Amino acid sequence: MKIYNTMTRTKEEFVPINKGKVGIYVCGPTVYDYIHIGNARPMIVFDTLRRYLLYKGYDVNYVSNFTDVDDKIIKRAIEEGVTSSEISERYIEEVKKDMQDLNVLEATTHPKATEEIQDMIDMIKTLIEKGHAYEVNGTVYFRTRSFPSYGKLSKKNIDDLEAGHRDIKVAGEDEKEDFLDFVLWKPKKEGEPSWSSPWGEGRPGWHLECSVMSKKYIGDIIDIHAGGEDLIFPHHENEIAQSEAANDVEFARFWMHNAFLKIDGEKMSKSLGNFFTIRDIGKKYPLQVIRFFMLSAHYRSPLNFSDTLVESAKASLERILNAMSRLEDAGKAAEEKEVTEEEKVLLSKMEDYAAKYENAMEDDLNTADAISVIFEMVKLANSSISPANTKSVIEEIYNRIEKLCDILGIITRVEAEILDSEIETLIEERQAARKAKNFARADEIRDLLAGQGIVLEDTRQGVKWKRV
Ligand code: AMP
Ligand code: ZN
Repeated sequence: MKIYNTMTRTKEEFVPINKGKVGIYVCGPTVYDYIHIGNARPMIVFDTLRRYLLYKGYDVNYVSNFTDVDDKIIKRAIEEGVTSSEISERYIEEVKKDMQDLNVLEATTHPKATEEIQDMIDMIKTLIEKGHAYEVNGTVYFRTRSFPSYGKLSKKNIDDLEAGHRDIKVAGEDEKEDFLDFVLWKPKKEGEPSWSSPWGEGRPGWHLECSVMSKKYIGDIIDIHAGGEDLIFPHHENEIAQSEAANDVEFARFWMHNAFLKIDGEKMSKSLGNFFTIRDIGKKYPLQVIRFFMLSAHYRSPLNFSDTLVESAKASLERILNAMSRLEDAGKAAEEKEVTEEEKVLLSKMEDYAAKYENAMEDDLNTADAISVIFEMVKLANSSISPANTKSVIEEIYNRIEKLCDILGIITRVEAEILDSEIETLIEERQAARKAKNFARADEIRDLLAGQGIVLEDTRQGVKWKRV
């Protein structure tokens, strides 16, 4: 597979460090509010990468953090008059729910910054010992110039950074040896969450989190480090400096960055106020439509969000889902018989399409082209399959398309939810079966409902039911 590596600005053949295993670290959200659909872009894109690598047979260790100590969380906690951990715990749950609704697989590990403080202190100690960091008045800074290749990811030159800085002096910066130095540990302010450290009570800097958590849950060298393109500088540049200075090995083999989700040509962001939360969009569209919409563009291309574009993605997805549902019905109605010559040709065309799909995914995760291939398959299935075909042929085609949709996280077999009226009717039938001492049928109905997540409770007032 070829992956565009931000470090080299070229597509390179992806070869994992350990055969058959891939370690991926994706910078996760700061949990102070509901996430917006821009934040969902890296989640969806890199989940699709993970699903594709799983399909290829790799064992994938996927790590994505929650930043649960941060100025924004503290601000929100003060506004609401609650603790910071109350805010972060609440929004971790909400983010997890959104991820589930977007069919994003749960990470192998979702580390939280507040649970890894000791390891962060240890890395700072190492950096101080090696001369890469120093403490002033309870703050520990990274000595940027001690890391000669600083700027290699963002292609920024230290002298240019210096020139740009002369005009902008930030308060409190005088204590630093050099304006380029960044914070590894900051001292506690009144009312803020803090931990004790050799440099006094305080909390870690944001960049340090990812260096420490990726080391702990993946290793000193990671195969793929990913996130949105706004993280290239300074976040990822600083992560590289910290990790490589501390571990003396290359930090990440591949750097992948998704482009922005935009609205009216501008980056969707909290600070600009031009955002929609996943939660709100979910009230308007099935979230599978949003996932499909995101994957209809290549992850390195900016993507504009508009109702018209999402409506069009919805119509396209429906074409696929309708075709799948027709195939399923045809499969049920069809009979098993000898596969005809014509069907053999059809199966071989489908196989060619699957190879074409893989080629698209192998080319730097080109989901846009992969989706076009699915459309070609669906078109062919629509025009050539009917219940008169051989059952196993229809099933094979269904399974093939389903597998390719599953890599994109698109669910084709949408189970119809059982209606309340159907539940009541089944409960009545169960009561009648019990009266007639037909306990086998009564149990069968109970199991059937349980399979739909409906639990029955026999009470004095009759049978009560609830969805679980
Ligand atoms: P944040 O909580 O702002 O650090 O963002 C979490 C993740 O979402 C990071 O990987 C960001 O790069 C990414 N992100 C934020 N806004 C957008 C956007 N409009 N489009 C794509 N990715 C974004
Ligand atoms: Zn990070």
